[in-house]
Amino acid sequence: MKILLVEDSATLRFAMRNYIIEAGHTSLVAQTGEEALQLLETTPVDMIIMDVEMPGLNGFETTRLIREWLGGHWIPIIFVTGRNEDESYQEGIEAGGDDYLIKPVSAMILKAKIRALERISEMRDQLNHLNAELEALSQLDSLTQIYNRRTFYEMATQQWLIASRNKHSLSVLMIDVDHFKLYNDHYGHPAGDLCLKKLTQCFLECLQRPLDLLGRYGGEEFIVLLPETDSGGALRVAQSINVAIEKLGLRHEVSPTHHTVTVSIGGVTSTNTTNNSLEELIKHADRALYKAKHSGRNRSLVDDIAIHKSILVAHHDAAYTQSLAQMLSSQYNTLITESAEEALDICLDIHPDVILMENTMANENDARICRQLARNQKTSNIPIILISDTACQELPASDAALGIRGCLEMPISSEKLLQKIQQLTA
Ligand code: GH3
Ligand code: MG
Ligand code: MG
Ligand code: MG
Repeated sequence: MKILLVEDSATLRFAMRNYIIEAGHTSLVAQTGEEALQLLETTPVDMIIMDVEMPGLNGFETTRLIREWLGGHWIPIIFVTGRNEDESYQEGIEAGGDDYLIKPVSAMILKAKIRALERISEMRDQLNHLNAELEALSQLDSLTQIYNRRTFYEMATQQWLIASRNKHSLSVLMIDVDHFKLYNDHYGHPAGDLCLKKLTQCFLECLQRPLDLLGRYGGEEFIVLLPETDSGGALRVAQSINVAIEKLGLRHEVSPTHHTVTVSIGGVTSTNTTNNSLEELIKHADRALYKAKHSGRNRSLVDDIAIHKSILVAHHDAAYTQSLAQMLSSQYNTLITESAEEALDICLDIHPDVILMENTMANENDARICRQLARNQKTSNIPIILISDTACQELPASDAALGIRGCLEMPISSEKLLQKIQQLTA
């Protein structure tokens, strides 16, 4: 186990650290409560041994903050303290401690206590594991009581089959809470959970037709299926959700975009459902969501699937990226990024149909990004066109193996660009 020792006395730190290591565990140390909190933000640990009397935050205060911050995730905390009054013991347990040892503590006692709590921790892990299995077997998401991802998918597949038989239109919306990580970090995980429940209620109220389907797609992402709904209708539903969520007025003091909780929604409509699988529809809704996020959040964007394929433009120069995106906008969905890392994430998440990539970005770190794309089954078939500010050389075979299918020399005319892309997407 990785055990965090929080102790301000150097002598005790040294001694107890040795006990921990002798017991076969690894140890991290913090001299103050504040330092412990900071450490926990970046490093997960399995157990904490905590002094009580410390300058700044004392052990009880630190423990309360840790418990609040970890929410449902439990790790054992043992206090080791010189305070031996009954009240102090009680306060420690109330603060969220699991055991309470009075100094001086012998190596033997400390090791035995660590072992006892380790056993409880293992049982708890098993229980969590079983609960996760049970949840997977059940139809509803345990937090929000709406369909979980698997059930949503099964029910949506039924609707999709009906729509494709009847050639009816069908829309999918992906809803993602804006800046929800910041919300959790600021208000704590339990408050985050409560927020998700309130949002769910609001989504349900906005979905009025009996066949409309809502599911929790994962984390803070929700998915909606709207049978017999065209893109105008889907956009109306999506925007009504934006408005209703804003009206809820759930404070989000640390959001950089709004003072209350908001959502971004990406949608897609398939008018002739036969041509597009449900997976494809969801993928397209995800792309639209990405665009809604990047055009400012707290908004909805619904694409008509029949027309658009998606092109990712990856270039360090934001202005140039915009100008290329502009050329493509009438015929394609465009996604833009200025970094190779983000380009990779987008390709994994959203799978664009073509990538336009700045030559130097493609060759950065010896073509690391191209190799990563080529290696991954999900992205290996996406054609890449290089954008070069020098004359394009004839493409070597090694480039073809990396998915590079062409090169365009700047300045690029819109005709040349569209022609090249049409060739690759035909
Ligand atoms: P963006 O506006 O780009 O969507 O930013 P974001 O912070 O919402 O997105 P990101 O995907 O980085 O973070 C999602 C966060 O949602 C991570 C996690 O803190 C939180 N989250 C996911 N599932 C749950 C949950 O079940 N309960 C709580 N309380 N928080 C959750
Ligand atoms: Mg002390
Ligand atoms: Mg998300
Ligand atoms: Mg989010």
